[in-house]
Amino acid sequence: MENKAITVTSPLLPTLDDFIPMLKDIWNRKWLTNNGCYHKELEKALAEYLGVKYISLFTNGTLPLITALQAMRITGEVITTPYSFVATTHSLWWNGIKPVFVDIEEESGNIDPQKIESAITPHTTAIMPVHVYGTPCHTKEIQEIADKYGLKVIYDAAHAFGVKVNGESILNQGDMATLSFHATKVYNTVEGGALICRDEATKKRIDYLKNFGFAGETEVIAPGINSKMDELRAAYGLLNLRQVDDAIAKRKHVADLYRKELKNTAGIRFLKDLEGVRHNYSYFPIFIDEQIYGTSRDALYEKLKEHNIFGRRYFYPLISEFSTYRGLESARPENLPVAHKLAASVLCLPMFADLTDADVERILSVVKK
Ligand SMILES: *Cc1c(COP(=O)(O)O)cnc(C)c1O
Repeated sequence: MENKAITVTSPLLPTLDDFIPMLKDIWNRKWLTNNGCYHKELEKALAEYLGVKYISLFTNGTLPLITALQAMRITGEVITTPYSFVATTHSLWWNGIKPVFVDIEEESGNIDPQKIESAITPHTTAIMPVHVYGTPCHTKEIQEIADKYGLKVIYDAAHAFGVKVNGESILNQGDMATLSFHATKVYNTVEGGALICRDEATKKRIDYLKNFGFAGETEVIAPGINSKMDELRAAYGLLNLRQVDDAIAKRKHVADLYRKELKNTAGIRFLKDLEGVRHNYSYFPIFIDEQIYGTSRDALYEKLKEHNIFGRRYFYPLISEFSTYRGLESARPENLPVAHKLAASVLCLPMFADLTDADVERILSVVKK
């Protein structure tokens, strides 16, 4: 067992014994998708758990991004971050929008509000920031800029399930926020996602758009997509919701262990808990200063692999380095020095609820040399 593989993440799974009766119920009712009863129940339960008013469930976490832009008729240019999962920028591409990359803050990895204004042009219509690793963006500063220039704000909150600032859900910031319930995330429905909006009329529009644009039996209001969550995954999601707080508490325990042990390791920086923030410990990124640590990020990544431990270099390469986006003016490395620095130095250590203290010790023994 000493050498069993430790992956960067491991999915939170409901107990099969709890799931089977729900499957039987679905089989009996023969209602598999299209706003079924488990779907309705999960929407209600998630709205309550997350502390949001209007939420629509999706079949993954990418389609709510695409649909948010469509719902608000965003066009032209959107300011965003290169330091994220590629789906963030892909959602702009799918809407024919030009992404404009703005550099990030070294401290958090989130978009730097100080650098947003100079990227605004007459074509800018919105800002799409990401709460990277679940750390809240500077939402107040971002909103002030948006209000000044009349821009919409859509938060990619894929990492920020359950994150609160002074008791208020981070998902209530901006015009809309999206979640991913992919298997690798803090809370999963196997594949899945959600779009959070601010009023009933908008939710209605979103619900049309995720069902081909159908508004009733015979009317189609727009070229919508098919992105409905089915009953099996909604039922599974209800079960996982019951245990997600426990999973977050276990993740916190892992984060505390890492922090305690790495505090005195020279050349390694990690994220700390912020005052007033309920974190979800979705990732445990460390940032390596090669000069001080004495080993490069990639060398540590490979060394961990030799010990059957699999970290991930989130987010390397930057989105701005992929061929689709590399040619953009804003993708030039000189425009994004901090993002390049973090992408070159980051390594996400394994982080999931079932990670044992012994696993963490095994990982730390390699990291601490
Ligand atoms: C996971 C993720 C997504 C996409 O979610 P899927 O459910 O995999 O489609 C979008 N943005 C970020 C930042 C993510 O980490």
